[in-house]
Parts: sequence; C-alpha cells; structure tokens
Amino acid sequence: MLKANYHTHTTYCDGRSTPEEMVLRAIELGFEHLGFSGHVDIDPVMDVPAYLAEITRLQEKYRGRIDILRGGELDNMYPDRRPAGFEYLIGSVHHMRSGDQVLAVDWSEEQLLCLLNEGFGGDGLKLCRAYFRLIAETYHRGSCAWIGHFDLVTRHNHSLHFVDEEDPAYLASAREVIEYLVGEDLPLEINTKQAHWGKLYPGAPMLKALRELGGEIVISSDAHHISELDKGFDRAAALARSCGFDHANILVRGPRGLEFAQVAL
Ligand SMILES: [Zn+2]
Ligand SMILES: [Zn+2]
Repeated sequence: MLKANYHTHTTYCDGRSTPEEMVLRAIELGFEHLGFSGHVDIDPVMDVPAYLAEITRLQEKYRGRIDILRGGELDNMYPDRRPAGFEYLIGSVHHMRSGDQVLAVDWSEEQLLCLLNEGFGGDGLKLCRAYFRLIAETYHRGSCAWIGHFDLVTRHNHSLHFVDEEDPAYLASAREVIEYLVGEDLPLEINTKQAHWGKLYPGAPMLKALRELGGEIVISSDAHHISELDKGFDRAAALARSCGFDHANILVRGPRGLEFAQVAL
C-alpha cells in the first residue's frame, strides 16, 4: 500500500498539526516519503520563508529515517507563478472571480452561491466549465507537478445541487481539460480530504476518462491533521483500480532531481 503523502498542510497555513508532528506520525505509519504542501495562496496566507526554513530543518533532522519534500500548493490567484524555494508545487484552483470579487469555491455555501448567481446567472454548468478552464489556464501560466482536486468546484454540490455530475455536457467539459493536461504529461490527484463522507475528487467518470486518455494519478490525503495523513487511501486505491489504473505515482529523488515512480495498487 501507499507509504507516502505529498499533500500535507500544517499550522503554518490552515492545518492543525505542526510539521514535526506530521513527520513523527508519518514515521509511525511507516511512510518512506512525506511531502509538505503549505498553501501558497491569497487566503490562507502563509509566512513562506518561515515555512520553508522549518521544512528544511526537518529534512536535515530526519534524514535517513524519512524523505521529506519541501512542496507547496500553488493557488491560481497567487501573484507569483513560480515561487522560489519549493521542490515541487501542486497546481490548485480554489478561487474564482465574480466582477471585482474573488470567491472561494469550497469555503462556504454562501460564497459558492454568490459566485453562481452573481458570476454565472445561476448556471451551474457554466460555472463548472469556467472552473475547469481555469485549471488548464493555471497550469499553462505556472509550473506544477500535478493538479490538485480537479473537481473541487463540486464541494457543495451535494447540498446545493447546482450541477448534474452525470450530465454528458458537464463530463465533456471536464474531459476536454483532462485531455489537455494529459497532453502536458500532468498527473491528476485523487484527493481523499472528504473521503469520510464518500466524496473523492475526482470521482469515477472523470477517472475513467483520465485512464482512457492515458493519464496518470497521484493519491493525496490533503491532510490538515496527523489523524488524516493516510485517510481514505484504501478507498482511493479501490476507486482507481475500478477505473482501470494498476498503479499510482509517487515522487522520489532521482539523479536529476525529483521524478515520478510507480507504485502498484
Ligand atoms: Zn486545495
Ligand atoms: Zn490542500
């Protein structure tokens, strides 16, 4: 089973455990790799130099026991598209614009409703289409190792029902962007942050499309607390297998720096 996680938040951004607590828990779980991905974002705002210094300190302290990677989760609204000091970046879209407002798609139902109604005239399909296109554009402008939570825009769809996630038009708009990303050799993440209520980002239809198009996956827990480091990994692996994947990817240190290696599912 997977003994690595690369999507990890800490008290330096919106996590509830310190980086060192995360390292100790990862060692307890038998992890060989632990990647930190503090938010490089407009909200939450992180003290990037302090964060990088602490992760670097832990890399030294635990060298030989676990491979610690100094990453970040780069948001689409962050002004610097190639921030220095990170060994890898996850490309994520959390925010969208509506007029002069910047609203988060996942933070609250209120913000999502405001975005939907004021930015997209209540048309959920239009909102999702714009969200997926923003992912492609974000990658095009930046530099990242893979895409985080591809369909995070559906975070509140179970309660607000603003889009039919089985609608062929919805899936086609996602597929178009997935095809572009696969062409760029960019894996998609299966994000298990909401696995406790059965939600994985993305779900089976998009993962099947990714597989058909020859794409690759990374499994991430998006942990904000030590109890979440390997949360939902079994569920994500089962979903991936059911969609035709026989391996996931992890980041390892190769002769030319970080590179992907395959782990059987
Ligand atoms: Zn995120
Ligand atoms: Zn995250």
